Amino acid sequence: MKEKENKKKSLKRFLLGRAKDVVLLYSATHYRPLLKFVSSKPSEVSIKVTQRCNSRCITCNEWKEKPENELTTKEIEDIFHQIKSLGVEIVGFTGGEPLLRNDIGELIEKAKK
Ligand code: SF4
Repeated sequence: MKEKENKKKSLKRFLLGRAKDVVLLYSATHYRPLLKFVSSKPSEVSIKVTQRCNSRCITCNEWKEKPENELTTKEIEDIFHQIKSLGVEIVGFTGGEPLLRNDIGELIEKAKK
């Protein structure tokens, strides 16, 4: 129960922090000195883990590309280490279709740490 409460408080703090940054960024478009109060560190990162996709949407070119430059598990793990040192709290996987990676379960587990 206490753990659930702590998670709620943590989420609330995170969302309020993000809301503050959004308001500050918007306000800074009219009054530049406000930019110094906006955090320069990202709170959220999306990692494109593959270009492969089995959906083949006609509006998308992603799946037409050859997946020759796909990041390795080790390279993505290195990104996790780098973004952790920046204090990033949310990691997302994009593509293509991330679930086509054989190591996606392993990546999710490593991202949680
Ligand atoms: S990456 Fe997204 S938009 Fe592109 S083919 Fe796959 S599902 Fe469709």
